[in-house]
Amino acid sequence: MHTYDYDLFTIGAGSGGVRASRFAAQYGARVAVAEAGPLGGTCVNAGCIPKKLMSYAAHYHEDFADAAGFGWSMGEQQFDWATLIANKDKEIARLNGIYAQILTNAKVDIIAGHAQIIDAHTVAVNGKHYRARHILIATGGHPIRPELPGSELGITSDEFFHLPALPRRAVVQGGGYIAVELASILNGLGCQVTLVQRGNQILRSMDADLGHFLIAEMRKKGVEIALDTKIDSITASGESKHVTLSDGRTLDSDCILFATGRKPNVRGLGLENAGVLVSENGAIIVDEHFTTNVDSIYAIGDVIDRVALTPVALAEGMIVAANLFQHGRKLMSYENIATAVFSHPNVATLGMTEARAREKHEHVKIFKSEFKALKHTLSGSTERCLMKMIVDTNTDRVLGMHMVGADAGEIIQGFAVAMQCGVTKAQVDATIGVHPTMAEEFVTMRTAVV
Ligand code: FAD
Repeated sequence: MHTYDYDLFTIGAGSGGVRASRFAAQYGARVAVAEAGPLGGTCVNAGCIPKKLMSYAAHYHEDFADAAGFGWSMGEQQFDWATLIANKDKEIARLNGIYAQILTNAKVDIIAGHAQIIDAHTVAVNGKHYRARHILIATGGHPIRPELPGSELGITSDEFFHLPALPRRAVVQGGGYIAVELASILNGLGCQVTLVQRGNQILRSMDADLGHFLIAEMRKKGVEIALDTKIDSITASGESKHVTLSDGRTLDSDCILFATGRKPNVRGLGLENAGVLVSENGAIIVDEHFTTNVDSIYAIGDVIDRVALTPVALAEGMIVAANLFQHGRKLMSYENIATAVFSHPNVATLGMTEARAREKHEHVKIFKSEFKALKHTLSGSTERCLMKMIVDTNTDRVLGMHMVGADAGEIIQGFAVAMQCGVTKAQVDATIGVHPTMAEEFVTMRTAVV
């Protein structure tokens, strides 16, 4: 006789929750997942997927311009925001359906509604109590707005994907990957964009060369970037917003977008009912097995605020499922996680930054190349590409690879496998390049710059 309704009750059907639930059910566990919103979570509904689709849309602008140098001529181009949003929403609805199907096929019960923990083994949804041997919290995070007069007049990434019309002028505040991606989308679609960043750098957690290079490239494309600046206040006059910046300038804008960080979703979750501990920023505290201070309660993904990326939430979810229902003791490695920024141009990063490598290793060699891609010899575009590799002089191991340029994410993914296998610079050098590509530059950089 089971004393529990479920072996695993997952709260949140986003990237991590769906993956953990599905794998747990495949391992034979009786699983339910509660979801307060649409299935698929942030990535599908308000993150990776809509963002990348809209980034594709924004790229056409340059593609049309580039085509002329190759002999193409075409009439006046027109962009229709409503078509893009409707098609994007259709695709997301399709993905929501696929998630439902994946869970149903795996025999996971989907419970629609906001879940609250009642005690170490009980979760309530819509007034009904469910008893579970294990509870997994995978509730993700939400965007935050800075506290400043008029901040309610601005939007966050959540609303960005549903704007009723393309703004003519926008101010984007933030210097992280979401800020530069959304600024690039707006710019590519024809909006006049000012990016306001309170520090003197963008993409601060990445190799410093990437941020500097990207700033120069984005400026060439027409994005105004104001560093060491922030929004002091916003007022509205009719449809237009009036922004006062900390450097004393004032701007009129149709859209103010805050991309100033995210916080874990723990409000109303009932953590206090079971005594689950959170850190200062509200992230649930877990050990290396994703167990909270309460033995039966686990947490993964953005709500633990380690590395807030979909593939990381997926990997953490699979580890929890395997450890609980396959008697595994797998640990998550956060080494060599490759990631891309879908700014225009794209950025990709893998392994250590130069600064980190210098901290951790006695001697490092830096290989760097900056060039114009073959395509742009005819397109007339002034876009340039940056590739950088960091090598431990003592062991010859590659410590980091970084890039700014078209399809950087696609290129870095393969190198991530090599780095996971401990690739040395000699092995990279022994690899024959694919010609003519941009990627071949990584295997032909021979002379260290430092
Ligand atoms: P989520 O996917 O956020 O899922 C959490 C789910 O829990 C949500 O569906 C929520 O409704 C639900 N929930 C919350 N509280 C409750 C409750 N009490 N009861 C029931 N349900 C609840 N990552 C990448 O790897 N690549 C990218 O290109 C990328 N782009 C991004 C772009 C943007 C604009 C944003 C915001 C994020 C992006 N991310 C990207 C990050 C990625 O989306 C997240 O890291 C990932 O979705 C985290 O998964 P998760 O399972 O932790 O949470």
